[in-house]
Amino acid sequence: MKITIIYDNETSRSDLVPDWGFACLVEAHGITILFDTGAKGNILLRNMEKLNIDPKSIEIIVISHGHWDHTGGLEDFLEKNRNIKLYIPSFYGIPSCAVDEAIEVKGPMQICEGVFSTGELQGETEDGIETEQSLVVHNDKGPVVIVGCSHPGVREILESASTHGKVHALIGGLHGFSEFDILKEIDIVCATHCTQYIAAIKSMYPDKYTEGGAGRIIEL
Ligand SMILES: [Zn+2]
Ligand SMILES: [Zn+2]
Repeated sequence: MKITIIYDNETSRSDLVPDWGFACLVEAHGITILFDTGAKGNILLRNMEKLNIDPKSIEIIVISHGHWDHTGGLEDFLEKNRNIKLYIPSFYGIPSCAVDEAIEVKGPMQICEGVFSTGELQGETEDGIETEQSLVVHNDKGPVVIVGCSHPGVREILESASTHGKVHALIGGLHGFSEFDILKEIDIVCATHCTQYIAAIKSMYPDKYTEGGAGRIIEL
C-alpha cells in the first residue's frame, strides 16, 4: 500500500504549499481513498496536481471529523469529481454539497475490501467533546492506522484498531498526545499535522519515526 501526504502544516517539497490542515491519499487493496481534504480547496487541488493525482481517480473520501482544517477542501474537490462515496461521522451529518453517495458512520464498519473505520470515537478536549473516526487498512505486517487529529486520544484509537491485529503503523495528526510509551509496540510512526510533540516522539523512537509533510510518500 501507498500513502501520499497531500496537505500538511509542513512540506517536504518546495513546489507544494504547506498549510495548517491534513489530507492524504491511500492506495491499497486496489482502491484509491482520499482521507480528509485539508483547509482550502485551492491548495488541496494545487498540491494534488503537482503530485500527479487526478481527482477523478479517487473513489472514496473519508472525513475524520468536522473541523475546518479537514473538511475545507471538500466542496472544491467535488467540483472536480462527485462520483465518490463519502464517509463522515454521523455526529457532523452529511454536508449539503451534492455527492454520489454519503454514508454516516456510527459504529466500527468496513469501508471496502481491507479498509475499515474505527467508527465514531469520542474524547474530551479543551474545546469540549470531539467525535472522530480513524481509518484502519489491513497490511501484511499488521493494520495501518491513519488519523486526522486524534482528538478521542491515541490510546483509544489504537485500542479500537487493535481488533484488527497488532498495529504496524500510525500516520497523521496526534495533537497533544504525550503517552509516548504506547508507541513502543508500533513499527512506524509518522506524526504530522497538529502533533505538538513531534521532536519528543522523534528523539524517543528514531528508528520508528517517519517524516511527514506534504509530498511525503510512505510505502508499506
Ligand atoms: Zn486538524
Ligand atoms: Zn481537529
